[in-house]
Amino acid sequence: MNVVRFAPSPTGFLHIGGARTCLFNWLFSRSTKGKFILRIEDTDLSRSRKEYLDEILNSLQWLGLDWDELYYQSERFDIYREYAQKLLDSGAAYKEENAVIYRIPKEHSVKIYDLVHGEITIDTEHIKDQVLMKSDGSPAYNFCCVVDDALMGVTHIIRGDDHIPNTPKQIILYEALGFKLPKFVHIPMILGEDKSRMSKRHGATAISEYRRQGYLPQAVVNYLSLLGWSPGNDREIFSQQTLVKDFSLKRLNKTAAVFDINKLNWINGQYIKNMELEKLTELIVPYLKEKGHIGETYDQQWLSGLIKLYKTRFCTLEHFGELSGFFFTDTVHYDEAAVKQFLSTPAAVENLEQFKNMLSKLVSYDVKTIENAARALMETMGIQTGDMIHPVRVALTGGTVSPGIFEVIHFLGKEKAVQRLETVIKKIRTRAEMFDKLSGI
Ligand code: GLU
Repeated sequence: MNVVRFAPSPTGFLHIGGARTCLFNWLFSRSTKGKFILRIEDTDLSRSRKEYLDEILNSLQWLGLDWDELYYQSERFDIYREYAQKLLDSGAAYKEENAVIYRIPKEHSVKIYDLVHGEITIDTEHIKDQVLMKSDGSPAYNFCCVVDDALMGVTHIIRGDDHIPNTPKQIILYEALGFKLPKFVHIPMILGEDKSRMSKRHGATAISEYRRQGYLPQAVVNYLSLLGWSPGNDREIFSQQTLVKDFSLKRLNKTAAVFDINKLNWINGQYIKNMELEKLTELIVPYLKEKGHIGETYDQQWLSGLIKLYKTRFCTLEHFGELSGFFFTDTVHYDEAAVKQFLSTPAAVENLEQFKNMLSKLVSYDVKTIENAARALMETMGIQTGDMIHPVRVALTGGTVSPGIFEVIHFLGKEKAVQRLETVIKKIRTRAEMFDKLSGI
């Protein structure tokens, strides 16, 4: 049976790279009916923090990466001491102050057979003697990692290739302790778009931050799977089940993956588009509440309708509230260029006025009625659609991009739409008068 593990240190949040490593381990175990172990490497008692641990566990659960066994290295110090003692007893290790140190055999070379990188040979000449137990009684990473991987029966070590320098040191310890070597699978790093190692400079790195911004866990998993692995065809959207079915270590990429937020946004948008409206509404509500867009009570049917109208336009749950803010608040942000282009002529104001009067007289307020009345008005006035629609859109939404204007007018509701047009008309007129006065001086 294949046994793999993900071994985070709770000294920071779970970031994109860690989550990707975890996902590949999880996928490999699930696709081969193996075992997936979560091992918390909390040996550094001063740097490990409970809040990081909780965040890591929550993020993994959110991503749907469940584990079969959970271990904490901080509870296993006796085991590491016992194995350090064995090496002391055999003379392979020595004590210095209170630390236990392993003597690296010189003139020896270590070969790593890596499933991604092939064979790597390292001369032990460049490896210093290895600390096994530190003088404060805690074990060193390379030592407890080997003891645990061996005792837990780990068959494949799948981790980032930034760990390659540790691998020969670990192989030496496997040999010293008489343990069977696992297979090594070092996955290439994730780089930012400028090709330097992915870091905060490139945007959010913590999984919890993506969750907060309203990315969906299925979309994040889908995107992460493509960072360093490919399904062997052009498909880009796959469910967790499909991934489990199709995943194979053979199709891991040999070169670094580049993190592309636009692609993640696109994938998230696809999941949003395909999500059931009721579920999507439920997920969006907390974001709207947080923004103060809605309170405890709101018109559920109206909101679902609005979300449906925007479904192909937003890429995160948070993004919806950003795009549709003008439906919820009267403090509309007006785009300066749009105002200049579409609201600064007397004709535009006249058109708005006529449009407002037409709306205020409507008895029924469904999309079709609004559209028919608007078209009839434009015909009577003898003006082009654009001359009416553009000013109306800027006046109601603040910008030049929105879903269909008649839908927008419908969802705003008659009262709000008429009022907003009135406010805008008044504002432009006051401004025009002011300019007239100024130029008369
Ligand atoms: N705790 C180590 C880390 O966070 C684990 C490395 C490994 O997988 O061996 O990088």
